[in-house]
Amino acid sequence: MSAGKKFTATTDVAGESDILQRGGSNRGRRVCVVGGGIGGLTAALAFARSGAQVEVFEQATALGRIGAGIQITPNGARALEALGLRGALDARGVQATAVQPMDALTGRAVTRFDLGRLDGPPYRFFHRADLIDLLAGACRGAGVQVHLGAKADTSRCDADLVVGAEGIHSPTRAVLNGTDVPFFTGQVAWRTIVPANDVAPVAKIWMAPRRHVVTYPLREGLLNVVAVEERDGWAAEGWTHADDPANLRAAFADTCAPLRHILKQVEQTNLWGLFRHEVAAVWSRDQLAILGDAAHPTLPFLAQGANLAIEDAFILARCCDAQRSIEVALKTYEDARKSRVQRAIEAANANARNYHLSGPARRVAHIGLKTLGVIAPSVFLRRMDWLYGYDVTSDDAV
Ligand SMILES: Cc1cc2nc3c(=O)[nH]c(=O)nc-3n(C[C@H](O)[C@H](O)[C@H](O)COP(=O)(O)OP(=O)(O)OC[C@H]3O[C@@H](n4cnc5c(N)ncnc54)[C@H](O)[C@@H]3O)c2cc1C
Repeated sequence: MSAGKKFTATTDVAGESDILQRGGSNRGRRVCVVGGGIGGLTAALAFARSGAQVEVFEQATALGRIGAGIQITPNGARALEALGLRGALDARGVQATAVQPMDALTGRAVTRFDLGRLDGPPYRFFHRADLIDLLAGACRGAGVQVHLGAKADTSRCDADLVVGAEGIHSPTRAVLNGTDVPFFTGQVAWRTIVPANDVAPVAKIWMAPRRHVVTYPLREGLLNVVAVEERDGWAAEGWTHADDPANLRAAFADTCAPLRHILKQVEQTNLWGLFRHEVAAVWSRDQLAILGDAAHPTLPFLAQGANLAIEDAFILARCCDAQRSIEVALKTYEDARKSRVQRAIEAANANARNYHLSGPARRVAHIGLKTLGVIAPSVFLRRMDWLYGYDVTSDDAV
C-alpha cells in the first residue's frame, strides 16, 4: 500500500452512510464470504464499504446463537471503529475499566491493571450475539446480501474473491493446506452466563493450580464465565457439547466462597476440549483466501481469536482495495498477518501456563504480579503495546 494512504471510514455512528474510499480496486468486485461469524461479517462489511458487491453464506439458520461473552480489545475495536461502528459498539458493549488477577483459593486480588491507561478505543465486553447482530446490521445497511441456512463450499463460489471464514473446522483451510492434525492441550473449557451480583466492569482472572476462571459483566446484569481445567482425557472441540454444571462446580470446589457462589448459579454449560492447531502454512491461492480461526485457531487465554479475525478481515479488504491484482493483494495480506498472529498465539499459550501455576512457582509469580501492580502499574500494559496498540489503518500494518 502506498505510504500515507489510509483505508478508513468516516461513516456516521450507525455505519449507515458510506463514505469510505469507493475509488479503490474493490469497487465493483464480486466478493463471496463463506461463514457469518465475527471474521466473515467484518470482512463483508470492509469490502462493502469499499464498494464491492458482497454475499455472505452462513450455514446456521440464525446468526450468533452460539457463544457467550467476548472481549474486544483496542486493536480489534480500532478496525471496527474505522468501519463506522463506534456508536454501535458503545451502545452494545460494556466499557471495561480493569483486569484483575485473583487468587481463586483465598479470593484476594493479586493485583489490578487499570485499562484507563491504554491508548486508543476502549476495551469492551460484549455478548457475542450482540456483536454479531451489530455487524450483521451494518452489513445489511451497506448492501451485503446475507444468506442464512446456506452451507457453502468455497470451491464452488463464483466471484472475483472468495473468502473462507468458516472457523476452526474450515474446509477451505483443508483445501489449501491438507488435513490439519490438532493436538489436545490437556485443557478443557466450560463457558456459561449467570446473573451478575457484581457488575463492576472488570475482567477477573481467578487463578488456581491447574485451573482458572475468567469472569466479566455483560449488558443487562449478566456475568460471562469461562472456566478452564487441566485434564488427561479430552472432550470434543466445539461448543455444542453440554456438560452437567455439577462437574464444573466439582472442579472448583476448593476455591473461595465468592467464586463458588458464581458457579453455584450455573444452570447450563457447554464443555470444549482445547486443541492447538498450527497456523496454516498457506492462506491463499488464486482468488481464494482464509481468515480468522480458519487460518489460525487461537487458545482463549489472551482473548484475541475474534480480535485477530477482525484485524485479518480489515487488512484483507485493505490489501485488495490497494491492488488491481487479487493474487498480489492476497500475498501482501498473508505477509502482513502471519508473524503478528503467530506472536499473539504464542503469548496466549504462555498465559495458560502462568494462570495454572502451583506451589512455590505460584507464590513467586503472585508476588511478582503484586509488586508490578504497586510499583510500576503501567509497565504491564506497556508490555502489551505490541498487541493492543496495533492499528489496522496505519501504514505499518501492511
Ligand atoms: C472460551 C473462549 C473464549 C473466547 N473469548 C474470546 C475473547 O474474549 N475475545 C476474542 O477475541 N476471542 C475470543 N475467543 C475466540 C473467538 O471466539 C474466535 O477466535 C472467533 O469467534 C473466530 O471467529 P471466526 O469468524 O474466524 O470463526 P467463527 O466464529 O467460528 O465463525 C465461523 C462461521 O462459519 C460458519 N460456517 C462454517 N462452515 C460453513 C460452511 N461450509 N458454509 C457456511 N457457513 C459455515 C459457522 O457456522 C460460523 O458461524 C474465545 C474462544 C473461546 C473458546
